[in-house]
Amino acid sequence: MINKIIKRALNGQELRKDEVLELFRTRSYEDISNMFEAASEIRNSKNKRIKLTSTVHLTNLCKITPKCKYCGFAAKTSSEGYYHSFSKSEDEILMAVKSVEKAGIPRVSCSGAHGYNGQHAVQAARIVKENTNLELLVNVGSDLNPESVKKLADFQTDTVCCNMETINIRLFNELKPGEKLKDRLMTCKMVSDEGIELSSGLLIGIGESYYDRVKHLFFLKEFPTLGEVPIMGFNPYLETPMENHPPCSLIEQMKTIAITRLMFNDLRITVPTPTIGPENVKFSLLAGADNVATVIPNNYPLDVKGVGSPTFGNLEEVVNTIKGLGLNPEINRVPFPVTELGITEI
Ligand code: SF4
Repeated sequence: MINKIIKRALNGQELRKDEVLELFRTRSYEDISNMFEAASEIRNSKNKRIKLTSTVHLTNLCKITPKCKYCGFAAKTSSEGYYHSFSKSEDEILMAVKSVEKAGIPRVSCSGAHGYNGQHAVQAARIVKENTNLELLVNVGSDLNPESVKKLADFQTDTVCCNMETINIRLFNELKPGEKLKDRLMTCKMVSDEGIELSSGLLIGIGESYYDRVKHLFFLKEFPTLGEVPIMGFNPYLETPMENHPPCSLIEQMKTIAITRLMFNDLRITVPTPTIGPENVKFSLLAGADNVATVIPNNYPLDVKGVGSPTFGNLEEVVNTIKGLGLNPEINRVPFPVTELGITEI
């Protein structure tokens, strides 16, 4: 039965909800490894290219109260996170994005906490697009209004991300008591209505069921400009209300990546290095992901604590991992030694 579903996905046929649920429920080692193989085959049909995305965190001053129960990013939430509050100046943002571009990374994510109606996102978009050739993703959750979304479009922002994390409303309200799922949905709709590519992903291992994941993945199909789905495994941050909640298992993250790939042949499937662990990047690639995010070059000028866990992927190590699997990291021609890694120039 599983093989039939996999074959339908390989033939580019749309999977039904019951089929996707069956994929999630499978426990046989053979079936799971067939799933990974098929997901990789679909991903590899696009020249085996793997996108790299770096990051700039704009501010950790978050006006959401109470804070999300897993958050170690906002000020004073976890001693493992940034802990002290910051808001990056224009010069700091510029320095950081220039260092990303200089390292040959083609894409940057500018993300920040809530409470600014998207003005911080618009400022970052202006800095990135006026000073670099980087592709840009902006992620300030639902902290956007129609004016700021319009300005992001005016600055040619390539992608706007608003993760719903889970569409199980009970779970959402429990883990994100200061936010409303409806606001995140409306933000995704606003972005899509504006014609900007939407990125919206799942936080997994937070107590959701397989059926919740299936419903969530099918719900995402409703957004016409959906171009990217981040799959993020939960990791507990110290001193947060969820510090004792178990981390998401690697196999669950791999299965979810692979199933997402079987459902969405052409979408970018993103794995932020902090959410899977930098040492596990290869497993996300073996499951069919094609975008590694939170990739930080050696000369990066700012302190970084990953969203989801304090760790992050180093550019050289990520590139070596991608090359080691026979895949092609997308990297721009750069005038300094990173080309010694033998990476694909675009
Ligand atoms: S997860 Fe985001 S919105 Fe929630 S408290 Fe942390 S910074 Fe604020």
